[in-house]
Amino acid sequence: MSFLAEPFVRLTVDLDAVAGNYLFLRKKLQPGVDCSAVVKADAYGLGAPVISKALFDQGCRHFFVAQADEGNDVRQALPAHGVPGQQAEIYLLNGICGEDPAELAQAGLTPVLNSFEDVEQLAVFAQKKEKKTPAVLHLDTGINRLGLSGSELDRLAARPGYLDALNIRYVMSHLACADNASHPMNGEQLNLFRDYSARLGRPFRYSFANSCGIFLGPEYHFDLVRPGRALYGITPKPGEISPVQPAVTIEARILQLREIDRAGTIGYAATYPVDSGQKYAIVAMGYADGYKRKIMQGGRVFIQGQSCPLVGRVSMDSINVDVSGLKNPPKPGDWVEIMGEHQTIDDLAEWAGTIGHDILTGIGKRVKRIYRRQGA
Ligand SMILES: *Cc1c(COP(=O)(O)O)cnc(C)c1O
Repeated sequence: MSFLAEPFVRLTVDLDAVAGNYLFLRKKLQPGVDCSAVVKADAYGLGAPVISKALFDQGCRHFFVAQADEGNDVRQALPAHGVPGQQAEIYLLNGICGEDPAELAQAGLTPVLNSFEDVEQLAVFAQKKEKKTPAVLHLDTGINRLGLSGSELDRLAARPGYLDALNIRYVMSHLACADNASHPMNGEQLNLFRDYSARLGRPFRYSFANSCGIFLGPEYHFDLVRPGRALYGITPKPGEISPVQPAVTIEARILQLREIDRAGTIGYAATYPVDSGQKYAIVAMGYADGYKRKIMQGGRVFIQGQSCPLVGRVSMDSINVDVSGLKNPPKPGDWVEIMGEHQTIDDLAEWAGTIGHDILTGIGKRVKRIYRRQGA
């Protein structure tokens, strides 16, 4: 049984907005360029199976996750393998992840090869099987995270049989500074990607741009782009009016309304001094639900369409908000807008000194996910 008649916090995903963002990004691409969806970390906390299916219905056929288990969840949410035109590819950014390549192949999961050793392992496996095994080859062009370095490319050049043994679906790389369009590293990485790709000695299909990379221009698009954030309504153009639609609303309920009857302070560490008469509400979303504890000053919620500033520190299960400016006193149980019509993911990220990815993936397990689509 469950005691939760109604959740304390709910996150509503507007699937039409996610689908609309996907179609908007695809419109920015030249004919022949494909648009994948990055659905790692449970589609940035929104629920990878539902999101993947919604994007599949818009024609998306390429999905990136980090881990094999995530890939399985996505695979199970999509129509069964094998129908022409219905075939979705799922790529594992973390690579073979210590799994048996035969099992990955059977599950329809394609590893991204992030090092010379990864290439070697899969090539030797494929040579034994005498069957070309699908993979994505990841080249590092400057982020220095995952992917083959220049010297690993030299090692690979000495073993041409390895690439022959594999069915390289894409050669990819990842941008470090795409959220800053004027950063010189974008162009440097682009040049290096072309350089490294040429060193492979034969043409492949290529994938380079994340969400922000799509907005750097068509020379960054190659054959497949890999947006994540922009699908979920996090702006791909920081500092400008967002070209994508918000897709996520978060609301929390009021637990209590209080009025100070003796001058004192509100919350842990007694940081917020108050006089008697101050009216405030305790709202049932805390840092355990993903309301960043760092949002101390400058944070706000909306009640009855009006801004109510945070007062005092964020607790594990609640925040406190000043409701003295409201015309109609709110009631316990009323819903409060944490993120939605009046304030975006990007606003919350800014208050917390972080990025939208961190806000969304940090939304806690207790938060109920609700999916909305047209007419539902
Ligand atoms: C997460 C990730 C993406 C998506 O990035 P966004 O900034 O969310 O668009 C693309 N490519 C790789 C390799 C990633 O790790």
